[in-house]
Amino acid sequence: MTMIVTVRRGADADAVRRGLAAAGLWVDRFDAGDRTSFHVAVSSARVERERLLAIDGVESVAEAVCPHPLVREAGAVAAVSGCSIGSGAPAVLAAGPCSVESEAQIDRIAAAVAGAGARFLRGGAFKPRTSPYAFRGHGLEALRWMRRAADRHGLLVVSEAMGSEEAPLVAELADLVQIGSRNMHNYALLATVGSLGRPVLLKRGMAATVEEWLGAGEYLLLHGAPSVVFCERGVRSFEPTSRNVLDLNAVALLAHVARVPVIVDPSHAAGRRDLIPHLARAAIAAGAHGLIVECHDDPGSALSDGPQALSLPALSELFREIGGPR
Ligand code: PEP
Ligand code: MN
Repeated sequence: MTMIVTVRRGADADAVRRGLAAAGLWVDRFDAGDRTSFHVAVSSARVERERLLAIDGVESVAEAVCPHPLVREAGAVAAVSGCSIGSGAPAVLAAGPCSVESEAQIDRIAAAVAGAGARFLRGGAFKPRTSPYAFRGHGLEALRWMRRAADRHGLLVVSEAMGSEEAPLVAELADLVQIGSRNMHNYALLATVGSLGRPVLLKRGMAATVEEWLGAGEYLLLHGAPSVVFCERGVRSFEPTSRNVLDLNAVALLAHVARVPVIVDPSHAAGRRDLIPHLARAAIAAGAHGLIVECHDDPGSALSDGPQALSLPALSELFREIGGPR
């Protein structure tokens, strides 16, 4: 049994620790921003939740037989800048280029993304690239272009923070901070991003188990993230006909069994645009609460991931079908 005791903001955390010790519990303390929580060691005494809730200054007690009680406690719906993502909410659609290439490009794409019925504009400013010689993004400038384009067209922003240095900039300019597949296991980055207090889109590591993925979500919540949206983007396999294999088992498991917010990125799963509409429909059928899709106004000239970028008319057709009548 795992237990997390969270202290009410402004309450005396030391007094809470003494109360927990008096109940016979061994605890580790975590501070994130103005929030303190205590992790109760598994080998501690068994104490009823109600008794801990009665300690002055305790706000909540999360307990679970699973190793990620905060993920469980956070529930099936995440709120991101007024948009609900999760069970019972309409499918949330996000789209945009792999990389933000110029202010004019992101503005043209934002107009089409909004017209297609999406809520979020995606776009990379800090790009993780396999080759150090490939285009690695326009950085802070690109974030600013994307924020302005999103505001002009009534969209929210999701963008990746690749390292701890830029994470505060991304948290300031984006509504949802993305942790990329390559960084899902970067626990120092998860702690930093969690402490920034923004909701997080947590992509699954390309060779991560579901338990490892949920554990990474637990890191974010423990360090202060208000909510986590999980994103399945395909896992590595032996099969060379597509970039990755979209794990719909994991999508159904997260949506229907673990009951956490989960969306699907069919673009990085397929790596080729002809499969994307089919995978997108399958993802929604499996229980995904939304989609994040790459698109480009001129896919043939994209600076990254052109082969998987949908044209703007193709994006519009897909999202109109999935988003349904508005
Ligand atoms: C991305 O969404 O831009 C990206 C790099 O995806 P992933 O981390 O899933 O490879
Ligand atoms: Mn990409």
